[in-house]
Amino acid sequence: MQTILRLDLAGQPRGWITLHEAITAYAKGDVVYGIGDVLPPIFGGIQRSNGLRSRIDLQPIVAIQGKIIQGFSPPLCNRTLFRRDDHRCLYCGQQSARTELTRDHVLPTSRGGTDRWENVVAACKRCNWQKDNQTPEEARMPLLAVPFRPNPWEWHFLAKDRVFADQMQYLSRRFRAKRAWAA
Ligand SMILES: [Zn+2]
Repeated sequence: MQTILRLDLAGQPRGWITLHEAITAYAKGDVVYGIGDVLPPIFGGIQRSNGLRSRIDLQPIVAIQGKIIQGFSPPLCNRTLFRRDDHRCLYCGQQSARTELTRDHVLPTSRGGTDRWENVVAACKRCNWQKDNQTPEEARMPLLAVPFRPNPWEWHFLAKDRVFADQMQYLSRRFRAKRAWAA
């Protein structure tokens, strides 16, 4: 299902909300501004005051009243991690389905490696098994790209399978779509 990109008043993405949640925010007057081409209108009930049907012109991106929270820590899950790595094993380069990939800790957890964006990569089962408890250097399995923490814009993009063109445009302005891969 299509969802609406929610922003805070500073224009930072703050999550994906359902159409229903967006309509509720509009009805409550919490939407401060919208961005993007208006979606097909949504009609509500007849308004008692003027006998007209209420109508909401929803936009794919809405900024909603509320506190501006400083800092955003993008949650780490395999789905978004594998999308960050283009469903590619960062050791052998093979692209695989989500079910064939694993989360590999570059510095293994058994040796103090932590579960954070900068220390995890997508790896096929074979490479993960082969690398085992070693660092890439010890295993002689150099990484094909540097693991990184996505910024809020990129994370919101990665977290969603389908986005409207306006949402894609809004988000992609703030991150580099191309990643440097080792030849
Ligand atoms: Zn591999």
